[in-house]
Amino acid sequence: MYNFGAVKIIIIGSGLAGIAIAERFIAAHCDVTVWTNTTQASSTGIATGMYNPVVFRRLNLSWMVEDLLPEMHSFFSSLEEKLAISLKGPIDFARRIPSDDYHHLWETRRSEPSYSTFIGPILNGYGSVKHAGMVDCSLLKTQYEQYLLSNHRLIDRPFSFDELSFKDGQVCLAEGDYDLAVFCDGPYAVQNPYFNWLPFNLCQGEWITLQTDAPLTKRVLNNKVNIIPMGENRYKLSSSYSWKTLDWQPHDEAKEELLKGFEELFDVPYTLVEHRAALRPTVSDRRPYLGRHPEYASLAIFNGLGSKGVMLAPYFSQHLASHLLDGTPLLPEVDIKRHLKRFHRSKEG
Ligand SMILES: Cc1cc2nc3c(=O)[nH]c(=O)nc-3n(C[C@H](O)[C@H](O)[C@H](O)COP(=O)(O)OP(=O)(O)OC[C@H]3O[C@@H](n4cnc5c(N)ncnc54)[C@H](O)[C@@H]3O)c2cc1C
Repeated sequence: MYNFGAVKIIIIGSGLAGIAIAERFIAAHCDVTVWTNTTQASSTGIATGMYNPVVFRRLNLSWMVEDLLPEMHSFFSSLEEKLAISLKGPIDFARRIPSDDYHHLWETRRSEPSYSTFIGPILNGYGSVKHAGMVDCSLLKTQYEQYLLSNHRLIDRPFSFDELSFKDGQVCLAEGDYDLAVFCDGPYAVQNPYFNWLPFNLCQGEWITLQTDAPLTKRVLNNKVNIIPMGENRYKLSSSYSWKTLDWQPHDEAKEELLKGFEELFDVPYTLVEHRAALRPTVSDRRPYLGRHPEYASLAIFNGLGSKGVMLAPYFSQHLASHLLDGTPLLPEVDIKRHLKRFHRSKEG
């Protein structure tokens, strides 16, 4: 057990993972510094920020949704208060019912008590989803970095692994010595020499926004992609998934994929306004990566938030902070120890 006041922690990364774990350590009265590069592209800076309790493909509930949603609401509400900004809101969300089989599955699920909390009735070919919403991730990132800066907790320049060494169980950097360094470097973790033995399976995501002449929908509609009304006849189509193209650049292929879902519903003229791309820190078994480095106990990781950072970061940042500060055991499915064999193999080879 640490004497919290004395614990000096450096967090590398200021995306959802870095922000969430920083908040947990600050609440525990640790001495927290965040090292990031605010000019670098990030997953959080581009994220659409939706939270959706339902997985549409087989109509299952999202993993651990009953635990994750309450933690998510309380976490973002307290950040809204702290930063004096509005970040989160519910959405009126509906999924297109594409076939009779899917209609049947939807009604079956809806009749089950655990699902009926989240799955609403079908009306005019669309099934409504309850308790979905949106968090403004890009606003959160810029505002939180500003908060860190004004509290002298921010180092804003590229972090270089050459600068890192160890002495008496501490992490030594030019800026000072730290009891703990937590890597929250998102998709850049594949270049992290301490944690690149973990099986990442990065996925590029893209979205576009369109301008139409007339209003189309007030609800967020899901038809392969999400069609999100942004006001003044602007719609965001989000998002594509590619495991092949991983260059952070917008591509025509993704644009076509996004437009297909839109054009199936709306035969209207439009102009393309914006097209953005980023990588998601997705991992092979779709569970987050939490834990200390197997050899250097003063290094830890919080990563693997994949396409669900909004729902996962609040709950699992608390889980990891309790583990690092109090020794509370990690859930085996999120503990990086599940990939320990890979670490040992990487040392041999
Ligand atoms: C198009 C798209 C749409 C998405 N939509 C949603 C959505 O609707 N809902 C949802 O929940 N999730 C969504 N996501 C996923 C979400 O963005 C991620 O789960 C989440 O943002 C990951 O956060 P992170 O902190 O792990 O990574 P990042 O946000 O990428 O943060 C990594 C941080 O590490 C810093 N860093 C890395 N290396 C260094 C270095 N050497 N020096 C200094 N700093 C460094 C970076 O600058 C950055 O600040 C979407 C992603 C994409 C790409």
